[in-house]
Amino acid sequence: MSNLNLQKRVTVLGSTGSVGCSTLDLIAHAREGQDPEAFPIEALTAQRRVDDLIAQARQFSPKFAVIGDPSLLAQLREGLDGTGVEAAAGPEALVEAALRPADWVMAAIVGAAGLAPTHAAISRGVEVALANKECLVCAGDLIMGAVKASGATLLPVDSEHNAIFQVLEQENRSSVEKIILTASGGPFRTFTRQQMATVTPAQAVAHPNWDMGQKISVDSATMMNKGLEVIEAHHLFGFSPREIDVLIHPQSVIHSMVSYEDGSVLAQLGSPDMRTPIAHTLAWPQRMPAPVAKLDLAAIGSLSFEAPDETRFPALRLARNALQMGGGAPTILNAANEAAVAAFLEDRIGFLDIPKVVEGALDHLDNGQGIWRLDALEDVFALDSEAREQANQLMSA
Ligand code: NDP
Ligand code: MG
Repeated sequence: MSNLNLQKRVTVLGSTGSVGCSTLDLIAHAREGQDPEAFPIEALTAQRRVDDLIAQARQFSPKFAVIGDPSLLAQLREGLDGTGVEAAAGPEALVEAALRPADWVMAAIVGAAGLAPTHAAISRGVEVALANKECLVCAGDLIMGAVKASGATLLPVDSEHNAIFQVLEQENRSSVEKIILTASGGPFRTFTRQQMATVTPAQAVAHPNWDMGQKISVDSATMMNKGLEVIEAHHLFGFSPREIDVLIHPQSVIHSMVSYEDGSVLAQLGSPDMRTPIAHTLAWPQRMPAPVAKLDLAAIGSLSFEAPDETRFPALRLARNALQMGGGAPTILNAANEAAVAAFLEDRIGFLDIPKVVEGALDHLDNGQGIWRLDALEDVFALDSEAREQANQLMSA
């Protein structure tokens, strides 16, 4: 703890969300417990929750506050009157926030909407804490190429990937047999397909272990989240799809594991609280205190495991297939899933329609030859829009 760099300048992209708020909570804690000036903030960004952004800016005094929705700029300016915080709005301003001089950027915008700002942060060659898994799913090769080119340090925030990051011995990388991503199984782990047919958005977002944003909560319920995480792990750590296993572990205590050729399996454990992986990336390469419930294994008593069921949860199979197909298939998978999840949350389609729409969009857009080359972010944006359009057509049919 003695070497902890409390002077790291921080930007939080998506500061009003679940991960964004947890990040600021850790910073508030460090300011109360260690140094009132800890982790000075360069920029905060939000999309629609302008009142929350104003409150955060008043508490944390960033230099720059951005609201994605331009119609809320006047409200943001008014709310920040007298604070000296510079305000801006719109997609270009989000990218500008990412380009401001921070040492550590939390990429916690949800969905492919985070791609341009996350890519911009990476291009600065700094530490980027990555929660926004969709940007790796839809543009994994381009993101990892940008990391290499800029020398950025990508620190995985997603609890499973953070666990792997902590227990993967780089010097023994060739002795790794496989990695095992754990999954809680979500709120419908024990449901039959028939029961799933009638579940409501409110039931789907009520996750048994984690308190998260709506989109990832629905992804956890369909298990598309684990599919996206298989793709994320492939890009972050370079493992092939068959070296990435998924294991259901309903207690969410073991966050993931690495299995080595000598039979050793290394795991990272902790209470299901995102502040632990976020703190790991914020303090990296040191550690810092986090106000989380300490793991009490005696109270938990037992940990259990099950094999995933791809018949009841077809999204996992679709994601694995998209990764195998390569090219633009994961981009289509991600975009169609975002469109389908949004429609489900608005009660326009049923829960079981989500993977059907994704499969339909993939079938329709598959050009049969490794599908689509993605040479630049513009190619990703174009394919992303096309897949959303296709998904929306399927849903209005
Ligand atoms: P939330 O929905 O809680 O927050 C999303 C954030 O992104 C908010 O600040 C939101 O602004 C902003 N945002 C939404 N749409 C846009 C847009 N079009 N352009 C710019 N900003 C936008 O999501 P989570 O915090 O749950 O998740 C964030 C990311 O982290 C996701 O990629 C998720 O998969 C990943 N993740 C989350 C975990 C969790 O525990 N929550 C765990 C592991 C990964 P506003 O609220 O103002 O509209
Ligand atoms: Mg996860």
